[in-house]
Amino acid sequence: MSTKCVHLSQLWPQVKAISFDLDDTLWPIGPVIGRAEQALFDWLRQNFPRIAAGHSIPSLRKHREQTAARHPDLAHDVSALRRRALECLLQEHDIDQTTALEMARLGWQVFYARRNEISWYDDALPLLQRLQTSYRLVATTNGNADLVAIGADHLFEHAVRAGEVGFAKPDAGIWQHVSSLLQLQPHEILHIGDHPEHDVLGAMACGHPAIWLCRARQPWLLPAPAPVTIQSLHQLQL
Ligand SMILES: [Mg+2]
Repeated sequence: MSTKCVHLSQLWPQVKAISFDLDDTLWPIGPVIGRAEQALFDWLRQNFPRIAAGHSIPSLRKHREQTAARHPDLAHDVSALRRRALECLLQEHDIDQTTALEMARLGWQVFYARRNEISWYDDALPLLQRLQTSYRLVATTNGNADLVAIGADHLFEHAVRAGEVGFAKPDAGIWQHVSSLLQLQPHEILHIGDHPEHDVLGAMACGHPAIWLCRARQPWLLPAPAPVTIQSLHQLQL
């Protein structure tokens, strides 16, 4: 698999802005969610020991998946879904609706504080700082990272989060939102991300050039032609 440099300005001279996926592109998300779910479970044990006694982190995950299946309207909004799942859990254990709503909000805050304690991949910050001198940068995520809490809001002109826009990648709605925010044509906005369908095919279907970041060095398995692929952000050159 090639680890050659990709010269952005040569390959896409028309590009004026670069859109980045966040989770698993700029930082690994698995350990972050693991710590956040542990913090939420500790909070549940402290505040609702009887409910926590009948649950584990995996069973809460399953409960959330069941909540998601009942609420397809929340599929694009991971924050709302987590709050709703917690609210349902409390109500299923005879907590009244008002208390369940308020406590779900508090539990969510515990989760969300940890969710924004990320550790950057070591190639991410140097690249963003370099790109910032030549390109407008935007974050386009299906997740709910808070760039202000993370201390990264100065790097991006906009943060486009599926939960707020009402569409999740690969839906064209989120890409149209990015183009209209930047007042640029799709071919002027390059998107970089780790997910073959959400990031790469989704962006390309809307006319964006895209780069697949495949840190795990897996082969491209989709029937569509393999996109420009990198294994590390260090491969990107201005
Ligand atoms: Mg990602």
